[in-house]
Amino acid sequence: MTTQHVQQLVVGAGFAGLGAAIKLQESGETDFLVVEKGGDVGGTWRDNTYPGAACDVPSQLYSYSFAPNPDWTMSFSPQPEIQAYIRRVAEESRVLDRFRFHTALEEARWDDQAQHWVVTLSDGTTVTATSLISGAGGLSEPKLPDIDGIDTFQGEIFHSARWNHDVDLAGKRVAVIGTGASAIQIVPELQKVVDHLDVYQRTAPYVLPRHDRSYTRLERLAFRHLPLVQQVYRTAIYWGREGYVPGFTLQPKLAWPAKQMALANIRRGISDPQLRERVTPTFEIGCKRILISNTYYPALDSANVDLVTDPIAKITGSGIVTADGVEREIDVLVVATGFHTTEQPIADHIVGREGRTLAETWREGGMAGYKGTAVHGFPNLFQIVGPNTGLGHSSMVFIIEAQLTYVVDAIRTMRREGLASVEPRAEVQAQWNDDLHRRMQRTVWTTGGCSSWYLDAHGRNTTLWPRSTFAFRGLLASFDADAYHQEVSA
Ligand SMILES: Cc1cc2nc3c(=O)[nH]c(=O)nc-3n(C[C@H](O)[C@H](O)[C@H](O)COP(=O)(O)OP(=O)(O)OC[C@H]3O[C@@H](n4cnc5c(N)ncnc54)[C@H](O)[C@@H]3O)c2cc1C
Repeated sequence: MTTQHVQQLVVGAGFAGLGAAIKLQESGETDFLVVEKGGDVGGTWRDNTYPGAACDVPSQLYSYSFAPNPDWTMSFSPQPEIQAYIRRVAEESRVLDRFRFHTALEEARWDDQAQHWVVTLSDGTTVTATSLISGAGGLSEPKLPDIDGIDTFQGEIFHSARWNHDVDLAGKRVAVIGTGASAIQIVPELQKVVDHLDVYQRTAPYVLPRHDRSYTRLERLAFRHLPLVQQVYRTAIYWGREGYVPGFTLQPKLAWPAKQMALANIRRGISDPQLRERVTPTFEIGCKRILISNTYYPALDSANVDLVTDPIAKITGSGIVTADGVEREIDVLVVATGFHTTEQPIADHIVGREGRTLAETWREGGMAGYKGTAVHGFPNLFQIVGPNTGLGHSSMVFIIEAQLTYVVDAIRTMRREGLASVEPRAEVQAQWNDDLHRRMQRTVWTTGGCSSWYLDAHGRNTTLWPRSTFAFRGLLASFDADAYHQEVSA
């Protein structure tokens, strides 16, 4: 079989991979391939179909800047609308003929001699690629809790990101493990239909009111015919969100008004003083992801819902046993315990210049890269949503677009300068990370008194960006070739 060569191989078809395809095409690249292990575009929004799934950054901002959507019906769009939007953008930008679905990257190995990536795909083919652009997602691989006996449970069990729509929950006894962003969207929906719901909480999150509303007909007409109106909405939301950054990164006291709003949300939603106390967080606001909901607390306060805060000891064939010895019987177990964030699964599949995988490279010191996009030892690898690019307050699509500008400029520079490969120099990457982690010291994620999924096994925050998003965009506005070791094409 002959091996296909492409200039760029893109992995994943979520906001990142699709955005990469669109931006590559726009910049005149004609020889790229996108591989996606799922059957459609959308990534997060294809996979998270649980009841109540919706974005928690307003859609006007949580969408591509180059593809505004006049059809959003609400400020925080539900999953089907977001998925339909991504699909429509993919179709209208005419890139889908370059996508190979149901095809996973199994291994990408850098060939230093040939100066390209040799990529084995799950369809049995091998592709070589000058550059590898990974858009494999920071929150794409569900993380199951390591609880004694979980595999002995006889009822239905599924993760929030792999919802089993065949299971009818009406009149059932259901448990949800977790009180993170997905769980607080799921719980109010389940409360309406199940017989009884147990919600297992390890740490109480801060939950702000959700200022959600439907757009009026007039607004939607304006979005369609006066694009400037939609731009004004987007800009206002952007700066409103950016207002959180000083409280997160410089002085947690600045988040005092947000904390008061969250505490008032508890008082408004819950009447039982004991329950109020159990849902009141014991750490600084912002330390863990701030959630938004108007319905979560009232759902917890309902007669058919119990909040369980005793630690889970084990799972049996028919229920959950907590440390106090109580067993609660259930028919269905929903696991809403998040994703592999600090050890990105794709890292096991990428083998760099020295024959080590990205995961092995990161095992000792944790995830690290240069500008969240490139990694020393991995020439011509560009990671969208790489180390320290995550946000606690604003739209990841903003970050993705900033990275795409940088990557496309890198590819343009390589072409112009006749470069076969670029790889961030070790000392430049070290300096970048020293600066990041120096800044991280004073953030609420470090000082706020919580342990969160932002932190890795070494206690280092390798997931979040500790500055403003406009600083990130500024730093990635153009490719800084002199930070890179360069090999000239033969
Ligand atoms: C429930 C939920 C709600 C969220 N809400 C928001 C929000 O409101 N605002 C916000 O900013 N962010 C939100 N996020 C974060 C969200 O993940 C990002 O905003 C964004 O969707 C990430 O896009 P992505 O393309 O980087 O990754 P993904 O959307 O995860 O896409 C990655 C794709 O890569 C594919 N893939 C992975 N490995 C391989 C492989 N080896 N071979 C081939 N294909 C592969 C996956 O199948 C997937 O389709 C949310 C996340 C979740 C889970």
